[in-house]
Amino acid sequence: MTTEKSDQLRQQLIAAVVKKRAAIARAQEIVVRLMEPGIPEPEFLSLLWEIGPPNYSDIVDERDINKLCGYPLCSNVLENIPKQKYTICASKNKVYDLTERKKFCSGYCFKASEYIKAQVPTSPLWLRDRETRPSFHLLARGT
Ligand SMILES: [Zn+2]
Repeated sequence: MTTEKSDQLRQQLIAAVVKKRAAIARAQEIVVRLMEPGIPEPEFLSLLWEIGPPNYSDIVDERDINKLCGYPLCSNVLENIPKQKYTICASKNKVYDLTERKKFCSGYCFKASEYIKAQVPTSPLWLRDRETRPSFHLLARGT
């Protein structure tokens, strides 16, 4: 390989690393932003494109730690959080794990959050510019 060619390769490699780091840093910024209460809907929907599922889980967890409902569009404070880890539904004869559900103020917020989480793209953050941006949808109230 000529020196010129290896130089070029090296530059490409550096550019790829820089791009990857920038995308990860940006996702981290979004996690911090979405930990706040009072996030406007359009902003929320536009930011989902720049995060991955682990970032979304971090947002829910961080909000929970701050006693804020895990769904980023809800500003309710978490109160009367059940202490038990499981609940038994007698009619369905089933045991439910409450670990995730406890991070939300209501059944709606839990479902709406799961609905969004399922739409968060799984592809690497730094390769998103090669993809077409999907449109994200919120779960309608009363479902
Ligand atoms: Zn809520």
